[in-house]
Amino acid sequence: MQTEVAPTDRPDFFKDAVHRAVELLAAGEPVALPTETVYGLAADALNPDAVAKIFIAKDRPAFDPLIVHLPHKDRLPEIAIVPDDIAPTVALLIENFWPGPLTLILPKNPAVPDAVTAGLPTVAVRISDHPVFQRVITSLKRPLAAPSANRFGRISPTSAAAVLKELDTRIPLILDGGACHAGLESTIVKIIPGDPKPTLRVLRAGPVTKDDLKAFGRVEFANAAPHPDHPVAPEAPGLLASHYAPLTPLRLLAEGEIFQPVPGRRYALLSYRGDPDDGSFGLPCWEHSIVLSPGKGKLPEAAVRFFHALRQLDELGVDEIIAEAIPERGLGVAIMERLRRAATPQPVPPA
Ligand code: AMP
Ligand code: MG
Repeated sequence: MQTEVAPTDRPDFFKDAVHRAVELLAAGEPVALPTETVYGLAADALNPDAVAKIFIAKDRPAFDPLIVHLPHKDRLPEIAIVPDDIAPTVALLIENFWPGPLTLILPKNPAVPDAVTAGLPTVAVRISDHPVFQRVITSLKRPLAAPSANRFGRISPTSAAAVLKELDTRIPLILDGGACHAGLESTIVKIIPGDPKPTLRVLRAGPVTKDDLKAFGRVEFANAAPHPDHPVAPEAPGLLASHYAPLTPLRLLAEGEIFQPVPGRRYALLSYRGDPDDGSFGLPCWEHSIVLSPGKGKLPEAAVRFFHALRQLDELGVDEIIAEAIPERGLGVAIMERLRRAATPQPVPPA
């Protein structure tokens, strides 16, 4: 199959690209679309044959459920059932964060195919605020299942070029909407009823941070530290201990850890601030280095550049990528979660 990339950066291109995407989606084909988080591989969420094509194109195992995107918040009841005890919190979160990078886990409507939810009784749902995605889904007028448009376990794509590298010849069309402006996958939240406050359990950290959420409930993180012995996190089934992984082995330095190169090996550095005072940046051993936040430690800048930088370093063919730790506050929590999963598991020494 030939994969076409359709530009959207002129009104006539935009119209034509949206039209072609809608035609393919209505015919049950998958199409890669830009969102504000990362590029998604979309298909009609209520058509099991279309959903099956997402799993095939991505080599995604059937146990990893998909996120369903809505054309409008009024369409939520078609996909999910909102229990009375969390309804006020759901309404507040929707009002404050949709459209945007917040995914809610809710009991599923039986109309949602089991393949979408990997057989779970719950469904993940959100609304994207990307203008290209919005125009496609509101023209199609149907919910879209759209996981990240990469092969399973690999680096999430934040540009059309990255999607092409991941899925060339596997899908018919990619809409090029430029670089994604958040750069990290959506925050996934499950709401646990509680008095006086509900608990907002963050199953995947993302662009909506703890600070953003704390006005709406007690925030807790479910998956902060995946363990190699427990690779499948119980509540977010697709989030394996190894995820977002480059083909090149990646080592995450602990804060303050001194890096000692092995002579003859080739290294690349993923630096946070590019500051030699952090310990690593000034070393002569780097074949190449990328600074995530040349603005000297701005987390949104690091987030937006993260997957692109990881992909660039992966393409160098070095022996190892060395990553500096990021401060674990705000968006740094989400970046560190991905760095831990991208890191090659270090062998656990025998007890
Ligand atoms: P992706 O869109 O590729 O970022 O993947 C979607 C992720 O959402 C999955 O890997 C799961 O971790 C999570 N997810 C989807 N549905 C559910 C659900 N019903 N319960 C918990 N997590 C979910
Ligand atoms: Mg993904």
